[in-house]
Parts: sequence; C-alpha cells; structure tokens
Amino acid sequence: MKWPRLVVDLKKIGENSSKVSAMCKRENIDIAAVTKGVCTNSRITGAMVNGGPSILADSRLANIVHLRRTGFMDPAMLLRIPMISELEDLIQWADYSLMSSEHTLIELNRICKRDRSSHGIIVMIDLGDLREGILPSEVDQFADTLIRCPYVRCMGVGVNFGCYGGTLPTVEKLTHLGKIAKDVEKFMGYPMEMISGGATSSLPLVKNGTMPSAINQLRIGEAILTGTDASHNCNISYLNQQTMIMEAELVEVKTKPSVPLGEIGFNAFGEKPHFVDRGNRLRAIAAVGKQDLRIGGVKPLDENIKILGGSSDHLILDVEDMGSRPHTGDIVKLVLDYGGMLSACTSPYVTIDFK
Ligand SMILES: *Cc1c(COP(=O)(O)O)cnc(C)c1O
Repeated sequence: MKWPRLVVDLKKIGENSSKVSAMCKRENIDIAAVTKGVCTNSRITGAMVNGGPSILADSRLANIVHLRRTGFMDPAMLLRIPMISELEDLIQWADYSLMSSEHTLIELNRICKRDRSSHGIIVMIDLGDLREGILPSEVDQFADTLIRCPYVRCMGVGVNFGCYGGTLPTVEKLTHLGKIAKDVEKFMGYPMEMISGGATSSLPLVKNGTMPSAINQLRIGEAILTGTDASHNCNISYLNQQTMIMEAELVEVKTKPSVPLGEIGFNAFGEKPHFVDRGNRLRAIAAVGKQDLRIGGVKPLDENIKILGGSSDHLILDVEDMGSRPHTGDIVKLVLDYGGMLSACTSPYVTIDFK
C-alpha cells in the first residue's frame, strides 16, 4: 500500500445521498449532486447518484467531460458561470449551466445557432451574497435579452448563499426567488422547470418544513460528501460524517521543546508563527503536507493527537497524550472537512482507495 492515502466509504456517501434525496423528494425538490469536491472520481460520483439525484453538477467543464467519458449519461450541469472561451465545449458536454451575463448569453445563443444545438440555462439571481447573479432590479432587462436568444432555453432561476458574503438562506429570500421565477415565466411564456434554491446550507429549511413551495431544486455537495454544513458550522445530525479518512505514515517520533530555539523569523509560507511553552512534548511527524491537503481542513481521528502545524510535506503532531507511544511506520488517521477533501482529491500525491 502507498501513503498518504484517502480511504473513501462509498456506502456512507450513498446513504447520505439517499437520505438527502428522500427528505427533499417529500417536498417535491430534486437534487443536483455536486461532484466538484471529489474531482469527479467516478466511483464516488457513482455512489452520489445511486442514492437518487437525477442531475450531476460540477464547477469545472473538464470534470464534466471526464464524467461523460467514464460513461455518465444522465443530465449534467456546469456550476461555474461559463467562460466565453468554453461555450463551444459547454454545449457539447453539458446540458445546463448557470448564467448571469447578457454578453455571454448572446454568445451562447450565437454558438448554439451555428452548431444547430440548444442549451438550458438557470439565470442566477444575486439575493445578497455578492458572488454571481443578476440583481433583482435587472431581471426585466435580462429577460428581454433571453427572449431574443431562442436557441437558449431558460430552465429557471437560481440563487447562491454563503459563497462569498457568507449569507444564509431564509424563507424571505427563497420566497423572493419564487416570485422572480413567476415574473420570468410570464415574460418568457413557458414554465420554469428549475427553481434552484441553493446548496447544503438550504437543507435546514427542508428539514424543518419551512422551505417555500416554489423551490424545486437544490444543488448539494457537502451534505452528501462529508455530512457537514459549513455555512451553519455544524455536522448534519441525520447524515454520516466519517465518509473519508486520510491516512499518513509517521516518519519521526521524538521528544522536543514546544518553543523553537533562537530568534524567530518568517516560516516557509511568509507567516510569523507564535508558540506557547508547554515544556518538552512527544511529537511526531507524518509524511503528509500542504501539497497533499489543506492542513487547516483536517483533524486527527484520535482526539488525543493535536496538530501543531505543517509545511509542504510534513505534518507535525503533538502525541504526548496518546495512550501508548507511537512509532515511525505507524499510520495516523485524519478526518477531513470539505476543503480538506477537495484538496486531497485534487493532489496527485494522494492515493484514493475504497473501503
Ligand atoms: C459548490 C456549489 C454548490 C454546492 O454547494 P455545497 O455547499 O457543497 O452543497 C452549489 N451551487 C454552486 C453554484 C456551487 O458552486
């Protein structure tokens, strides 16, 4: 076996996916399973859709192309508003995308017409998070342009929360989205099929029964993959969290002082570290570092181990409080949050194995 390795529990991911899908189905909400956190590893995405979601969504067109090439036939949606330079590939590989720019829309229509193709879009509405989306006051003008783009089909409207501004979804905001959908529907003269009310952070409204009935789609990644809700900073009680464990091998175990000796400058990442003097402590170095994962996004499975810090290739651990003294060659297990997972799945140094 090779370390560092990420051991993925497909059964737990499948269970998370079924639970989220079943709960949402009761409220007539479809799930688009968001695969960007696992770089479309086809066994993981397989587990995500087997649970019930009907659409796969990813922020990278390259990932969607990969999904298609590995045999995924169901609808695929591009989550990052497209670059004009990728529109040609977009209509070839994806069924739907998110849209917020009139200029891009007009280009998309032109390319669809030229290639005798069509493409569905969800118009993103910015309800305050200040990442992508047109402002509510711009809806009429955008719809005007949409009408003049007959090769592009407006599938509906959508919103993002918690991506830049950290805003949380509320009943008012999602009711507002439903109202905007009605306006666009009147304008276009055909029904809006997808009223896309956000991501994992919108699930609490479904769970507590307050999700406005207009919302019929959520785009869910984090809840399925890690069972957590970063926007609300919590674990989701009805889902599994330990869906993947990172394993790394110890390459040094020694007792050392807890404060560096001598004058302290900047570390390799331009930060000036601070230390608390806890005397001599038993510490271990694991052979995993910032090139393998985002160190801030992991915590040891054994709560008696503390992460002291890390560099490109080393993770430094305080192991003084472990029940028995570890040895070089031992494996340490780390639980990942969404950022930790994303970084581990995109690192060429990490082997992915399945439980
Ligand atoms: C990543 C992403 C999602 C999924 O968010 P989660 O919090 O992982 O559920 C949904 N929509 C867009 C536009 C995204 O980029």
